[in-house]
Amino acid sequence: MSKYIAKRAIRGANALVSEAEIMLKKALAEKGPDTPVAFPNTAYYLPVILGITGQEVETLGQLQEAVTHARNLLHPVPSNRHWTPYLGETLDSGMATLLAAETIEALRFVYKLQPEPFPGFQMAGGTIYSNGNGNGDGMSGHLNGPIDDIQLRSWGIQLVDGRMPGFAAIVGAAKSNEVAVKIVRELQRRNILTFLCGNVNGRSIIHQLQEEGVEMGYDTYIVPFGTDTISAIYALGFAARSALTFGGMKGGQPREILMYNKDRVFAFVLALGEVDDLKYAAAAGAINFGFPVIADTVIPQILPTGITTYEHVISMPWNEIRAADDMERAEKMVQKCIEVRGVKIKIADVPVPVPYGSAFEGEVVRRADMRVEFGGKKSRAFEYLRMVEMDDVEDGKIEVIGPDFADIEAGGYLDLGLVIEVAGRKMQLDFEPVLERQIHYFVNGASGIQHIGQRDIAWIRISKNAADKGFDLKHFGEILHARFHADFGSIVDKVQVKVITDPALHAEWLVTAREAYDYRNRRLADLTDSSVDLFYSCTLCQSFAPDHVCIVSPERLGLCGAYNWLDCKASFEINPTGPNQPIKKERAVDETKGYWEGTNSYAELASHGSVSEVAMYSIMENPMTACGCFECIVMIVPEANGVMVVSREDPSMTPAGMTFSTLAGMAGGGVQTPGVMGVGKFYLSSPKFISADGGFKRVVWMSSVLKKTMAEELKLVAEREGDPDLINKIADETVCTEVDELLAHLEAVGHPAMTMDMMF
Ligand code: SF4
Ligand code: ZN
Repeated sequence: MSKYIAKRAIRGANALVSEAEIMLKKALAEKGPDTPVAFPNTAYYLPVILGITGQEVETLGQLQEAVTHARNLLHPVPSNRHWTPYLGETLDSGMATLLAAETIEALRFVYKLQPEPFPGFQMAGGTIYSNGNGNGDGMSGHLNGPIDDIQLRSWGIQLVDGRMPGFAAIVGAAKSNEVAVKIVRELQRRNILTFLCGNVNGRSIIHQLQEEGVEMGYDTYIVPFGTDTISAIYALGFAARSALTFGGMKGGQPREILMYNKDRVFAFVLALGEVDDLKYAAAAGAINFGFPVIADTVIPQILPTGITTYEHVISMPWNEIRAADDMERAEKMVQKCIEVRGVKIKIADVPVPVPYGSAFEGEVVRRADMRVEFGGKKSRAFEYLRMVEMDDVEDGKIEVIGPDFADIEAGGYLDLGLVIEVAGRKMQLDFEPVLERQIHYFVNGASGIQHIGQRDIAWIRISKNAADKGFDLKHFGEILHARFHADFGSIVDKVQVKVITDPALHAEWLVTAREAYDYRNRRLADLTDSSVDLFYSCTLCQSFAPDHVCIVSPERLGLCGAYNWLDCKASFEINPTGPNQPIKKERAVDETKGYWEGTNSYAELASHGSVSEVAMYSIMENPMTACGCFECIVMIVPEANGVMVVSREDPSMTPAGMTFSTLAGMAGGGVQTPGVMGVGKFYLSSPKFISADGGFKRVVWMSSVLKKTMAEELKLVAEREGDPDLINKIADETVCTEVDELLAHLEAVGHPAMTMDMMF
């Protein structure tokens, strides 16, 4: 341990804790101890304080304890005459710094100074559900501030399946704007989530990226927290909440939370520019989480002692990086960060003239920036993947049949058909839809290309920027060929692609494609839980929620919505020792509730004994556990003798007196909670939806976004249940958010739950 670092970190921590004390004292005097304190859109209070101390801070008065805790962790600044290894003291000081930093940000929220005002700033894209707190919702004039729970969860699945290998917290400013852009592009290319904070002499990497027109926001994986070092606390808050959300940990388990992050969250800090006392102190805080710090300036290094996986602090002085130019230096720097943290990266080499990676999946191409579109209102685009004989595929053959878009005016449209023909010894007809659905992700990965929808309602845009760089129709084929080989190499041996714009051929293939869609629909309808002997497990989320297992049957998909029975079947073929294993149902114990000997014993095994029985069709008795990625939460409303269904996309209050964020805290963590269950939204339309408890007729309240987005499916459900008007009888947040009003509504419309058997 370097005394130099210890000294500066301890000094920085002392200063920040004093600052927090002074600010708190002032706030208490001005606002009073009962003034509410909160970060927006989170159920985890002030997450670092909650995780480390167990304290659920809701008022100014309660902050006192956190500050006292921080004060007690401080140590005297080492004098010049003594020499001891200061690791323990430095780590304590780091933790004190984090508690103080979170306190200060919370106080700034009270004074409406967070999220940080940033004139002229506009978050890119953004989600439809963040509600006006500056969190990724396109609100202009503010930086992001803390990440909300909803976004954390929606990244969760990408974090667990490896699409997002980890996160980087960049503190400071790069040597030049160009270098700043290069660094974030290198991170984006690897799908590493990037948090931005801090400054050097008033200039932040956020300024640099804004000046260069780099889009920042949830959709681009680049999230600007704030222009001071203190805002780096939001990165640690994100880390702490990962452990609480996905790891099933509780507040006040500091050791577990820190270990969880060290072992499972691949994050690192990149300090750009001069490092002052406060940055040393914050870095010491990050090291507690196992996150190493890499600096581009000369500082003494801390070599491994077991807290972080490899080195703690790495100095990589910019001018000493051997490279031809600054661009190459930036690349090497990012490469070093990845090595130091042991981040596992898998990227397919996709031969296109634009940047490519999952970080670009959420990108939006606005009409004004659009070169050409296929599908949407004015034209038709379809995509169809089919399996053919080995001899009928010439691997890598890409044909563009018909005119390209060179002659179309800017902003114009064209009909398009993507026909992908694959062959492989292990390929099966049932895998066609599984592979076809990947087209969406694969095509979207190209920067400047937007893909929406599937089948014959696909809608693709190419931006002017991408077209200027040379992106053309042939590149759709290049992307698909490369990605199907890279991601599905074990079932796909050969791939060829036809990109069709010729009108006659387009019409012809569209008919063929529609016949196939039809066949698949009928096949899917025939697949029932009783028609198969095997269910599948999914333990993908165990890297985050160690005891959770999804049991996936034809009539109940995984709770994240991303894995249905066919997906799991294909995934097992692709990777026989992977997270999706076949489960033999074996003897039925109770088919109504959905117990089989095979599923029970598998649940016991995969949950490491924490669950011994799972009822596939009940919410009341041994319901399936949840990790944290559920699309919806189903929860009993005892007064109404029914259940409510809350969508992840719904920020409003529910009749349970809790929002999705709060409910999610009760539903996740891999434990069974009778009466509460996380589900995939398509389970709602399954005939097996809580069928042991009365089925869909139990739904008395549901988020309106579900009614809207699933209108077709729900209409069929209502007919199946023999009550065509059922969906209208179900309340939503526009009807009521209180139990009393809900009961009045149900009486008034004659909802069936009012006359059904008591739920318990
Ligand atoms: Fe996680 Fe379940 Fe989805 Fe698998 S199916 S990824 S375990 S939520
Ligand atoms: Zn999950």
